[in-house]
Amino acid sequence: MSILEIDHINTYYGGIHALRGITLDVNQGEIVTLIGSNGAGKSTTLKSVSGLVKVKSGSIKFKNQDITNKPAHETTLLGMAHVPEGRRIFSNLTVKENLLMGAFSVKKKNVIEERIERVYDYFPILKERLNQKGGTMSGGEQQMLAIGRALMMKPEVLMLDEPSMGLAPIIVEKIFNIIDQLNQDGMTILLVEQNAYQALSIANRGYVIQNGEIVLSGKGHDLIENDEIREAYLA
Ligand code: ATP
Repeated sequence: MSILEIDHINTYYGGIHALRGITLDVNQGEIVTLIGSNGAGKSTTLKSVSGLVKVKSGSIKFKNQDITNKPAHETTLLGMAHVPEGRRIFSNLTVKENLLMGAFSVKKKNVIEERIERVYDYFPILKERLNQKGGTMSGGEQQMLAIGRALMMKPEVLMLDEPSMGLAPIIVEKIFNIIDQLNQDGMTILLVEQNAYQALSIANRGYVIQNGEIVLSGKGHDLIENDEIREAYLA
């Protein structure tokens, strides 16, 4: 069953036609990845869904509800978390304060504590560093913190924009293992990546975006075997 349906969306930045009729869907419980090279439109797709940029035409549905051009704070409250490219954690706040920001809409202390404990289960390093300022953490730790903060909302869909960017291979492996674990625990994930091999390896399905258009889609493992994909993205 589709939890997220993107139907022929067109998004512009002034005169730049960034998304040209993007259509994709994510079923409950899946990891779906959107791969493509620099400037293809991956980030813009996520921003269009979460309401950070406006779409000019087409529609976006979340749990059968039309959310086209709903502002980001509303899509967040509906259950969609967006971890943007480049992490964007609060550098001057501690790890714990950053996590608490993710639960801004939750009033009950025990619920917040429960969620923090769950984040620590996935990322024990955050528990060790809870009083450290976010900005002093390594890139990998900041990525973990950004994902942890998103989990504090207890989202139904987690949208991750290039979580592997700028990280050493061993850390990338760790992050992908956690994404996989989150999914096994029931989280639906829309994963944007330039690291096509890693992303397709854990994804149920993938879409390839080029110049704002979906040019290919299929099962993650089939796409890894596809000659065009191998040549363009896995070489
Ligand atoms: P990257 O990995 O480099 O972020 P991407 O696939 O996520 O690539 P987008 O960031 O979605 O690509 O960009 C799609 C197109 O829109 C590109 O041509 C880009 O130059 C353009 N674009 C993105 N953001 C803006 C902006 N704020 N203003 C103007 N043009 C933009």
